[in-house]
Amino acid sequence: MKQYVADVLASIEQKDPEQKMFHDTVSEVFSSIVPVLEVHPEYKAAKILERMIEPERTVSFRVVWQDDKGEIQINRGYRVQMSSAMGPYKGGLRFHPSVTLDVLKFLAFEQVYKNALTGLPIGGAKGGSDFDPHGRSDNEIMHFCQSFMTELYRHIGPNVDAPAGDIGVGGREIGYLFGQYKRIRDRYDAGVLTGKRVDYWGSLARTEATGYGLLYFVKNMLDTKGIDLKDKVVVVSGSGNVATYAIEKAQEFGAKVVTCSDSNGYVYDPAGIDLAAVKEIKQVRRGRIKEYVERHPQAEYHEGCRGVWTVKCDIALPCATQGEIDLESAKELVANGVMAVGEGANMPSSLDAIAYFQQNKVLFAPAKAANAGGVAVSALEMSQNSERLQWTFEEVDGRLKDIMKNIYEGARKNAEKYATPDDLVAGANITAFVRVADVMLAQGLV
Ligand code: GLU
Repeated sequence: MKQYVADVLASIEQKDPEQKMFHDTVSEVFSSIVPVLEVHPEYKAAKILERMIEPERTVSFRVVWQDDKGEIQINRGYRVQMSSAMGPYKGGLRFHPSVTLDVLKFLAFEQVYKNALTGLPIGGAKGGSDFDPHGRSDNEIMHFCQSFMTELYRHIGPNVDAPAGDIGVGGREIGYLFGQYKRIRDRYDAGVLTGKRVDYWGSLARTEATGYGLLYFVKNMLDTKGIDLKDKVVVVSGSGNVATYAIEKAQEFGAKVVTCSDSNGYVYDPAGIDLAAVKEIKQVRRGRIKEYVERHPQAEYHEGCRGVWTVKCDIALPCATQGEIDLESAKELVANGVMAVGEGANMPSSLDAIAYFQQNKVLFAPAKAANAGGVAVSALEMSQNSERLQWTFEEVDGRLKDIMKNIYEGARKNAEKYATPDDLVAGANITAFVRVADVMLAQGLV
């Protein structure tokens, strides 16, 4: 079966040699499921792996809009609908200059298995644009969102595909996208987008869900080892939605978070990050994280983001973007005594960095399990929209806690059965893969 996996991976390299991120992501998932393929020859017979690497549908489109100076701007828009085996396509929209088809394909692939782990009825997709929202006015953001949705609306719907936010797409963008969808379709399909503001039927606790969920997962992982989060020194990268609420929950659990970052550099505050200041800079003023040191003289600001991994810590939580921890950074973290890594971003650690953590007995919480809280609460938002009701914060947060516990326990059980007990990468991949593969078998040749 190792050969079967190698052949499938080689076929990606042959057909799409430029899709490196996609290749690596598929490689991470498929390498860990070899023991399952051995006991389930029906997957190979049905060519399940070959099917899983082909998106069910990929849409690519032109987005034309006018900036504040009256100049015409052209961007590329995409939606990769990877799998509808488990439910309507579901996954975020990313607006960032680094967005390419390769990046979205790997994110969509990850999303399928992450979403399956939640145990909720959602398939997997990802979309977005190479549009750079940085420095754009509110008016420009709205015009871009409206133009983007003027094409995207054909491909989405509450029972078809329900996008949400991701990097560069927050509550404001979801609002403009929703407004345009509603106007074109002329109906109030609340469940077509998640991450909506609460006053027009978003879910309470959705904003907090990815960061909180990450900490719930990490806490479960540490509890198994009898380790308390209290007084642990935590390094967080990022200062967006995931990082902000990861910091909030880590602090609530009594940990000391000493860093956060943005794409320009990172802040080290030995006194512990003042989260109210971070929220004010990033959410209210949409400023840069270096402004933090203006009001916190004890804190240091360093240019460049990789330096954040040189800060001594017990726990590292990469919450910025893909590929932010390479082998060198992993070595630095291990040399400084890190005991656990929890991935809040999507695929923030390179494959060799993950291997290095595992060889060095660092407890490792892989992204597709550890950051599934966001999309899980998105699915709960869809449930609330379907029943035209809104649940309390406590209700949603309580369900989120249970979901993260189930994800952890499922991954741990399969890690014990097929790999080694602490190998949550294999455990999560196996749990998700078997769920999706069995459903694909049941649904015939699709
Ligand atoms: N963008 C988030 C993720 O990577 C959330 C997706 C969603 O809520 O649909 O999982």
